[in-house]
Amino acid sequence: MTKASKNYEYPLAYVKGVGPKRAKALAEAGIKDLDDLLWYFPKSYLDRNVSNSIKSLKIELINTERNFYSASFENIRIINEHTIIAKVTSINLINYGRKKRLLKILVSDNSFDSAQILFWNSVDYFKNLFKIGQTIVISGRPELDKFNKLTFNHPVIDLIEANDEESYVQGQILPRYSLSEKMISYGISQKLIRNLVSEAINQVVDIRENLPERIISKYKFPNRKDAIAYLHFPPSKDLLLKSQKRIKFEEFFYYQIILATKYYRNKIEDKGIIFKRKSLLARKLYESLPFELTNDQKKVIREIANDFRSGKPMNRLLQGDVGSGKTIVAVLAMLIAIDNGYQTAIMAPTEILAEQHFKTINGFVQELGVNCTLLTGSIKDSRKSLIIDEITSGRTNIVIGTHALFEERVKYYNLGLIIIDEQHKFGVAQRAQLKKSASQSLIDKSYSPHFLLMSATPIPRTLTMTYYGDLDLSVLKEMPKNRKPIKTKVVFESNLPEVYEFVKNQLMNGRQAYIVYPLVEKSEKLDLKSAVEYYEHLSKAVFSDFRCGLLHGQMKWDEKESVMREFLERKFDVLVATTVVEVGIDVANATVMVVENAERFGLSQLHQLRGRIGRGSEQSYCILVTKDHFRYQFRKEIDIEKERNLAMLRLKSMEATNDGFKIAEIDLKIRGPGDILGTKQSGLPDFKYADIVADVDLLSLARSEAFTIVKEDPNLESESHKLIKEILEEDEQKNKLYFETV
Ligand code: ADP
Ligand code: MG
Repeated sequence: MTKASKNYEYPLAYVKGVGPKRAKALAEAGIKDLDDLLWYFPKSYLDRNVSNSIKSLKIELINTERNFYSASFENIRIINEHTIIAKVTSINLINYGRKKRLLKILVSDNSFDSAQILFWNSVDYFKNLFKIGQTIVISGRPELDKFNKLTFNHPVIDLIEANDEESYVQGQILPRYSLSEKMISYGISQKLIRNLVSEAINQVVDIRENLPERIISKYKFPNRKDAIAYLHFPPSKDLLLKSQKRIKFEEFFYYQIILATKYYRNKIEDKGIIFKRKSLLARKLYESLPFELTNDQKKVIREIANDFRSGKPMNRLLQGDVGSGKTIVAVLAMLIAIDNGYQTAIMAPTEILAEQHFKTINGFVQELGVNCTLLTGSIKDSRKSLIIDEITSGRTNIVIGTHALFEERVKYYNLGLIIIDEQHKFGVAQRAQLKKSASQSLIDKSYSPHFLLMSATPIPRTLTMTYYGDLDLSVLKEMPKNRKPIKTKVVFESNLPEVYEFVKNQLMNGRQAYIVYPLVEKSEKLDLKSAVEYYEHLSKAVFSDFRCGLLHGQMKWDEKESVMREFLERKFDVLVATTVVEVGIDVANATVMVVENAERFGLSQLHQLRGRIGRGSEQSYCILVTKDHFRYQFRKEIDIEKERNLAMLRLKSMEATNDGFKIAEIDLKIRGPGDILGTKQSGLPDFKYADIVADVDLLSLARSEAFTIVKEDPNLESESHKLIKEILEEDEQKNKLYFETV
């Protein structure tokens, strides 16, 4: 799109009613020219037909409160800002306490209900803001007071100018733009922005359509230019909604086109090794398993076998909660590859996990005459050379290891399938490195190896469609039948003695327990219990009859691994630990997990911690300990966003469900997408208008349209797709960024 005028630093300064100061304030908010103004969409709308009435908002709050106490945590809606429009009916300054004053404004709307606005500070200033009979816009987080009156404490107040009020009363939908403090102080009003936008709509003529005709007519979208205009000045609610949908759709659509291009490019450019479906080895193992595979496991194996026959390299992400049985799926896949004459490798993030895989996998395949080897960093050099020789010669069928797998000197023999466990612990670069070593090892170099990535961290649908949008996805939702669901309970600190009694009972029955703390060293600021300090207390006083071990993040990795190993070998009964046990190992005999200061942990983190138990045949228990006063606060407050209530929401969600996918969805609502993916995996595209959480259905539509197009026409050469290609090329810089992040 062309910029209106590029000659000046602040071209808007020359527009009527703006001037240099205002232009600067606008520029600081990202509005430098008319073109930017077009994309400065209103943050909300005033519409008599859609705004909350006081009555409806009140009912919503009462219902939310009800849900909050019931167990339906998945349905919970976090109450965000709400806006109501109402007339001021009374203004009262109330004295209370000694010399304290409270400003109480009563307002009412045509739902015949009233609300109160309370100002506790700067009461004189706010008092002068209001006049009786005036219509105002009130935005804030509403509460109900003890008489069930709708109450806003220090909300944001937006006064409506007289002629706007008239339009509003007549049923027009008025845009409300967000104005920075600086904009306001320089006299930039809603009205001025509207005038500028309307100027921009008249002047910027070359707004180019960027969606294929077929999609526009299929979804009855307004054309691009109209949609932009309607977003600023909606002629009707219907057109506003359609325009919003359209603009969000195009944002998602272009991102999905890029993902689809990447997805199909791999498939087109790279040739995948074809494995014959029938595998005697896999069949033998399958028939000798002491359990029946779950339907999900069978389904995923079929999906993988189909990839193997497709002639394209597999790039599949297998998601399944802890304990859902991913390993056996991986083993069956490896056996198919081995039967076809290929070597396979499985990589895990820690040595101990690799060792555990080695034991498990070897146990499965030994009888079949399949050779496994373990390759980790701590293996002595002399032995390592022997192991590498075995790998290079092809005598080894399954290589199991850690980062050591992509050391330069490890040369594989016809490595056709690579499996990465806990894939989020590895970077994209490491995956690429393994791909390179594998490709070099193939007898026929024209092929690419198959990849299976596994993750025990359930990821909400919306994130798999964006962050993992170029991978095929398999999911294990169903748990093996023999599993006893973990029992989870939230308790308060004053119950700790009983908790410890309970733990001792389990220990006396021969079980082991984890006790987890948030931090390592005592932090004065946060007043957190420290694992080190409590370790002393627990081992010397509470559990003096038992053996205790300590594990924390400041230990060296080999120290950590040896502690875990000792716990596994039952050298002690209680493991006092920080969150480093998150990616721990399978200690089937550990049946109790006590998490202290549980309010400090994120929901997904709590779920990961809980995954350490419930791995054997005995009933397991997860006990989440939190502060006593949370119990009472929780009953008193309805404002879910308050820290302690959010904490209780997390803890109660843990009590309510063991389903990692449900937990992930709740967590996404609470924290938003950025925090869920964590530091290693940030770099989600920054959608300007669309919201991947709220607009997930639209995202899904845009994805399927984009993938259909690229599948049919990978190079976007047909007449109706040329446009897409052109726009992508124009936006190349941005697209490069996308490519690097996904
Ligand atoms: P994860 O998905 O966490 O890696 P594992 O593959 O380690 O889970 O499986 C956990 C345990 O469940 C293992 O002991 C495995 O042998 C067992 N298991 C896997 N599938 C089934 C099944 N269908 N029925 C019963 N047990 C199973
Ligand atoms: Mg596993």
